[in-house]
Amino acid sequence: GGWRWSDRRQRWLPRVLSVNSAWKAPGVIFVNRSLALEKIKCFGFDMDYTLAMYKSPAYEELGFRLLLEHLVSIGYPTEILHYKYDPTFPTRGLVFDALYGNLLKVDSHGNLLVCAHGFRFLRGGPCAPRRAEILHYYPNKFIQRDDTKRFHILNTLFNLTETHLYACLVDFFSNCPRYVSCDTGYKHGNLFMSFRSMFQDVREAMDQVHLSGCLKEKTLENLEKYVVKDPRVPLLLSRMNEVGKVFLVTNSDYKYTDAIMTYLFDFGDGDKTGTPPRPWRSYFDLIVVDTRKPLFFAEGTVLRQVNTDTGKLRIGTYTGPLQHCAVYSGGSSDLVCDLLGVKGKDILYMGDHIFGDILKSKKRQGWRTFLVVPELARELQVWTEKSELFEELRSLDLLLAELYQHLDSGSSERPDISSIKRHIQKVTHEMDMCYGMMGSLFRSGSRQTLFASQVMRYADLYAASFLNFLYYPFSYLFRAPSVLVRLVLCLSFPPCPSDVPKPIRSRVPAPGASPRCQPCSCSSHCRWPMSQRWNTAP
Ligand SMILES: [Mg+2]
Repeated sequence: GGWRWSDRRQRWLPRVLSVNSAWKAPGVIFVNRSLALEKIKCFGFDMDYTLAMYKSPAYEELGFRLLLEHLVSIGYPTEILHYKYDPTFPTRGLVFDALYGNLLKVDSHGNLLVCAHGFRFLRGGPCAPRRAEILHYYPNKFIQRDDTKRFHILNTLFNLTETHLYACLVDFFSNCPRYVSCDTGYKHGNLFMSFRSMFQDVREAMDQVHLSGCLKEKTLENLEKYVVKDPRVPLLLSRMNEVGKVFLVTNSDYKYTDAIMTYLFDFGDGDKTGTPPRPWRSYFDLIVVDTRKPLFFAEGTVLRQVNTDTGKLRIGTYTGPLQHCAVYSGGSSDLVCDLLGVKGKDILYMGDHIFGDILKSKKRQGWRTFLVVPELARELQVWTEKSELFEELRSLDLLLAELYQHLDSGSSERPDISSIKRHIQKVTHEMDMCYGMMGSLFRSGSRQTLFASQVMRYADLYAASFLNFLYYPFSYLFRAPSVLVRLVLCLSFPPCPSDVPKPIRSRVPAPGASPRCQPCSCSSHCRWPMSQRWNTAP
């Protein structure tokens, strides 16, 4: 798991737990790769779900209702309008299988962790009554994730509504007597509706709702209901602007960006932080809209200047010098570096989209990356409140190790581990349910999800909100602890020195070697250090 933070931050943990909202959770920034904040010359921001945090579940409820309405408009039965968005069901990072209509939670290799058909969970344990069901779909309990025509990863916060919608549609058609359920879809008279066509309809509805502007329109009609307003946003940005350059890179258009940012930065006389009111554009050295990330991090598109009075684009490619407060449209990450006069390594870029923001900026441009994961506040809360479940899982793992302690490759004895395995499943399920129906974004029991592995790989830093930088000086050095190396060492130790290879055991221990070895400090799993093991040899 990724549960580590720099030691000095530990004192904030109790405060994190007292606050429910991710946006307000102060303090903790997690570190995957060391980063010296004083070397950063430039702070880059995405807008949606990064600078502008949408209120959950109000915003998802709005998007969900618009999706249902669109589906009904293209011929789906009106009964589906009865479904309501349920924030306790979807978890980010699930995979939709367009062949069988299942929602899957998988680890980084594609092994199944959880599988749901509609709202029905298919069981996969060796003793489970429905074992045949999950093996019927996935004989290997594994998916070939490279098959991107069949498996669709639902990684973004915008995908949450879509995830819930797949479950609702499968639930509806599976239970509606007018339709006959088949492996790959539903029969209705002489018509066949495949899960794949259902997937395409939902994707089209997503495009309609997000691109045609109806979601944006409704959001702007009631900004207070849908967008979090926090006086610490202008405060932090003005502090960042004192130590470096600040830029905004958003896929949204200028009209929407201007409305959202005006709302976020306008505190009038009500600003209690002492920051004098100033127009939002003055906080940025460079503003780029319509960026079409992830294309922006590759070849990009033509860079144009936006007329901020009319919102219209100026014709022709922009070739002049950088103008403060000017707004540009399109472009590419290379152009941003040129205009600001910085290299990729000088930039710390903050976004919420693991692929479009973080993976692409890191892989193609070598930018330093900060991933916003609003769910972290809740994850931390569960992690601490339910620490006894994590402990239980750990002691079960120990118990399992003890059963094998006196066995080696010559043993014919087979310890009965079925009850321990059942217990592990029970605890894992109980842990999952603390987060929601689909469990944690990062784990299932002690196993890491695909999303977690992507975060570890591509995000240098991650936190519930970029506002957590308020708690760190700009001279701060984020240090990544070398946890993985220690873990590998632990796993390579044998269970007990006196019981491994028999020829060694029969020999007299070396002088000074204690008959019971000292516990190793690195983990309770690993009680016999390597040096002690070799002490028993001649
Ligand atoms: Mg975003």
